[in-house]
Amino acid sequence: MMREEPSPVAAFAGFRVRTFRQRSANLVERTLRARVIRFVPWLGVAGVFLPRAEYPVDEPALRAAWEAQGSPAPHPPAAGETVLFGETLAVRALPFAGADDLWEEGGALVCACRREADPARVAARVGAYACAQLQARAEALVADWAPRLAARPARITVRRLGRRTLGQCCRDGEIRLNPSLARWSPDILEETLAHELTHLTHFNHAPAFWRALAALLPDWLPRSLVHHLG
Ligand SMILES: [Zn+2]
Repeated sequence: MMREEPSPVAAFAGFRVRTFRQRSANLVERTLRARVIRFVPWLGVAGVFLPRAEYPVDEPALRAAWEAQGSPAPHPPAAGETVLFGETLAVRALPFAGADDLWEEGGALVCACRREADPARVAARVGAYACAQLQARAEALVADWAPRLAARPARITVRRLGRRTLGQCCRDGEIRLNPSLARWSPDILEETLAHELTHLTHFNHAPAFWRALAALLPDWLPRSLVHHLG
């Protein structure tokens, strides 16, 4: 749907600018009618998404979008940090704590270790925690949206999928989510989940699918564009 092209402004406010243009408008429902600019702080990237016939953006347009998004500073995670739903958290190991445990406390993830803190094991436990949080958020969203859903998923699982595949809907009603959704801001999870939930009753991307998705989540399009940056 989108093709990356060179950006006339390579960087802005510390963000690398990446520009994507819509290739075709063969599906009316998927047509990008206005440009979308999104700053993703933990990637340090600004994504510019353009309709087929629009000129690339200049500095004033980037500045307006940057201010509209609250002038975020880029913060690519450093060693000893992790990103959970768009927020950077320090990871603090607590060795010889008596028991293995993990919790959030004052902007940090504290990882208690029975013995010495092995970095690989700490990373694996942080990853497992992120997956559990992702699954819990997805299940809470399904419960919130229940009155508007035509069908409920048989189950939700978090598992490794292709890099560009954030979600999958299986014929037996299982919805699979990519663990990387635990890094993106929660609105990307909402868009992915809404897309896959819509597939429970519409198995293809026919116009009826896009109408049903728009009824569940009217602003799905600007959210879905951000996938191109991941
Ligand atoms: Zn789909």
